[in-house]
Amino acid sequence: MNKLLSFPLTLIAAVTCLASCSAQDAPIDANGASSDSSGVSKSESEWREELPHMACFVLREKGTERAFTGDYWDHHEKGVYQCAGCGHALFDSDHKFESGTGWPSFFQPAEGASITEHEDDSWGMRRVEVLCSACGGHLGHVFEDGPRPTGLRYCINSAALKFEADSTRSEEIQGIRFD
Ligand SMILES: [Zn+2]
Repeated sequence: MNKLLSFPLTLIAAVTCLASCSAQDAPIDANGASSDSSGVSKSESEWREELPHMACFVLREKGTERAFTGDYWDHHEKGVYQCAGCGHALFDSDHKFESGTGWPSFFQPAEGASITEHEDDSWGMRRVEVLCSACGGHLGHVFEDGPRPTGLRYCINSAALKFEADSTRSEEIQGIRFD
């Protein structure tokens, strides 16, 4: 991706969505709630009350946090990354890798994770958006320039994630040498 081109677009998106997240009611359907097949259904105003501002901006407004600013791009503990909106397990630390992008990056979703992918043509770019299937929250995008074994790079916003440490696994890997 062309960073010079994408930066101003990201900034515009951030300003637009921040205003929308904090000030106005987003459009809602006839039932007053956003809903999906798996049943986590809340109105946009309920989401805004429950979620931290940045999580709301990413999950509900499809925003993107600035690179190198989130909690998890340089996070190396063992455990599971859950959806910050609904708590569903989405990614596993075993599948995380150093992408150098400033966003947490995974080469595959956690086993059994409910993730939806669909094509996103916004901002003049064709990308594949990644969403939490349970609550419909926007997580980030998936690109085909990741490492083996999948060749995929799930580029996910830290603000869309909530890390749950697995102390058992941390102890297990202490005896392993990386050299
Ligand atoms: Zn969710």
